[in-house]
Amino acid sequence: MEEETPWTRSLMARIRQESFVLLAAVAIALIAITAGMNAWGALGLLLVMAAAVLWYAVPAVVAPEPPSVVDTEAPVRRSLLPEVSATLSALDIPVMVLSGDASVLFQNRAAEKAFGEVVLGAHISARLRSPGILDMVGETIATNAPNQIEHSERLPSERVYIVRSSPVDLGPDDSAGERLFVLSFRDISEVRRIDRMRSDFVANASHELRTPLASLRGFIETIQGPAKNDLKAQERFLGIMFDQTTRMSRLVDDLLSLSRLELKSHIAPDEKVDLVPLLGHVRDSLLPLARDVGVEIGLHLPEGKAEVLGDRDELVQVFENLMENACKYGQEGKTVDVFLKAGQGEPVEVTVVDRGPGIPAEHVPRLTERFYRVNIEDSRSKKGTGLGLAIVKHILTRHRARLIVKSEVGKGTSFTVRF
Ligand code: ADP
Repeated sequence: MEEETPWTRSLMARIRQESFVLLAAVAIALIAITAGMNAWGALGLLLVMAAAVLWYAVPAVVAPEPPSVVDTEAPVRRSLLPEVSATLSALDIPVMVLSGDASVLFQNRAAEKAFGEVVLGAHISARLRSPGILDMVGETIATNAPNQIEHSERLPSERVYIVRSSPVDLGPDDSAGERLFVLSFRDISEVRRIDRMRSDFVANASHELRTPLASLRGFIETIQGPAKNDLKAQERFLGIMFDQTTRMSRLVDDLLSLSRLELKSHIAPDEKVDLVPLLGHVRDSLLPLARDVGVEIGLHLPEGKAEVLGDRDELVQVFENLMENACKYGQEGKTVDVFLKAGQGEPVEVTVVDRGPGIPAEHVPRLTERFYRVNIEDSRSKKGTGLGLAIVKHILTRHRARLIVKSEVGKGTSFTVRF
């Protein structure tokens, strides 16, 4: 079989690149011929001509002799690129090798995945349209000095890259005057997302602490000033101050709980825990709260044991949170039911059901985010910190268990833990 030359390879790649325009033109021309309509014929021919003109009028896209990784005549490329390309292919970050006229000599698989196929030998602008990147490449080629910029892409998904262009030092053998440049893309989208989450978290936590602190300060100033001799007012204020400090310590406890859980999130617990007595214990500990809000907690347990691998204290925390929420937020329903399912060969499941007002669907996916509340005032008045379900989710992740939330406005909510 005749060997494929760089020129035919480039031509084939070019045809693949322009296949849509060519196909459209041919299709229109065919329709025109069969329909026998002059206007269609003229349009089809016009498109074919436009494609042909474009083809030859844009030499920058196809270099006269497209250099290939292996076949190039240049001594430096021939001796360097096979090793370079093999090494770069093994990298998992997108990398392109450019020539001195900014045409792409090579791109690794990661670059192909991120930015699509490129015609080897095509100018970099045929693949990357960002003016920032193109200017940077131009500057690196002109000055032979490395540069980097931050570049974001919105489609197909939002990504942020640190793009770096740097010259390759080919050493004293650079006799052919051949110059190579490397364009690399470091994906920092995940780092950015975590940064944003962290700063949101710090802002939220500070805000949550600042509110009770500001109120404490106000009361202290009042007791020192206008209410100096008013014992009755002082007593009332001290009661509120006590509530505020309790709220702050609850918040700090929850924050510490979260950070402890984060530290051991990758270690799966291995203690055998029987959920039957555990759920009974949690229900008993919540009876005073249930009585206060006028709710009855019904426990529906199977015969025998229902063992899972877990950490007892953390599982107590999970079911305390779920039952407490059901009592607090579903109090209008007057009853909360807890079902434990532990059939042979089936996953162990605990479901906490209330008949309260329910949660509108748009809030459900966000309930386990830190500080996310459907109604902030309602949560505060019920001594919530907005961290309960975030803690539940962390504990369940460590237990390789899932939290399934189903809610219907006006009917109630169910939280199921599936081990
Ligand atoms: P909080 O400390 O505010 O209770 P959580 O993380 O435990 O925080 O819950 C987050 C939010 O989810 C609550 O503020 C409340 O709006 C909503 N929520 C949780 N459980 C229920 C429930 N059973 N019924 C209705 N809303 C609920």
